[in-house]
Amino acid sequence: MKMIDLHCDTMSELAKRGLDFDNEITAVSQNQVAAAGFSAYAQCFALFVEEDDDIAAAIKWNEYERVFHRQLVKYQDRMVLAASYKELVDAVQEGRIAALLTCENASAFGGNLARIEMMKKRGCIMASLTWNGRNSLAGGASAQEYGLSEFGKKAVAEMERCRMLVDISHLSDRATEDFFQIAIRPFVASHSNCRSLCRHPRNLPDEYISEIIQRRGLIGINFFKGFLCSGEDKTAGFSEIGDHIEHLLKLGGSEVIALGSDYDGAEVPSEIGGIGQIEALYTYLTDRIGRALTEKVFFMNADAFFQQNL
Ligand SMILES: [Zn+2]
Repeated sequence: MKMIDLHCDTMSELAKRGLDFDNEITAVSQNQVAAAGFSAYAQCFALFVEEDDDIAAAIKWNEYERVFHRQLVKYQDRMVLAASYKELVDAVQEGRIAALLTCENASAFGGNLARIEMMKKRGCIMASLTWNGRNSLAGGASAQEYGLSEFGKKAVAEMERCRMLVDISHLSDRATEDFFQIAIRPFVASHSNCRSLCRHPRNLPDEYISEIIQRRGLIGINFFKGFLCSGEDKTAGFSEIGDHIEHLLKLGGSEVIALGSDYDGAEVPSEIGGIGQIEALYTYLTDRIGRALTEKVFFMNADAFFQQNL
């Protein structure tokens, strides 16, 4: 089984809790990955910066980035930074985890355009413009009245110039629509589901999904129960994940569907509480949509996207 996951919060959790990748607690860990038995595995490790203040966020990013690099050194026999598509392929061939560094909340840019290239050179391949609040770039899902700021527009242009991918997960609708106006390169919604199935501002309405399909982007299915189904139903699991995937297929999205687990950042269905259990989802999807499509969702679509755009 091969897998590329577009989003987990594991590294920020390790930093916050003073844990190593070899632990018994996090949903993505050395043991969990070993239990999954992947033949190929690339993981986007988002450094989640909570701070919307530029200076505080830049300081936090630097702190988390040091933890991330320390973990890479400590577990270098198991995982290696993949800052390019070639490095991703090499890591997989060596049987190591291809560790992709991503940013959740671009307040980590510190309000400084020059930091974008610096962060890219240090391996950060993708950044979400916001978290849920409003920062110097844009409004997030809980700050719907704000679109992209002037600085946000400049930051998008600079990200595209440096080939740092833009992640639109967490953006407000206004900011997403502003972004569609100026974006040139393909982009990603790393961990968002379908709003027509689960009415939540973190999920994507059909017209945004169509835009992503047209522009050959990627959408990572989020395992968070609250984005799989609305209301009091806390039993969301495989069938809801399958529903969101089938909805994307209905919209013509067979090439854009990927996974964005949100492991270590959200409450996920207990059948796949850790990545070590992920084969159960693979089996479920194979039965429901067939092996070829399941392999696209698990690996091939993200692999093709990264080959084109990293
Ligand atoms: Zn998130």
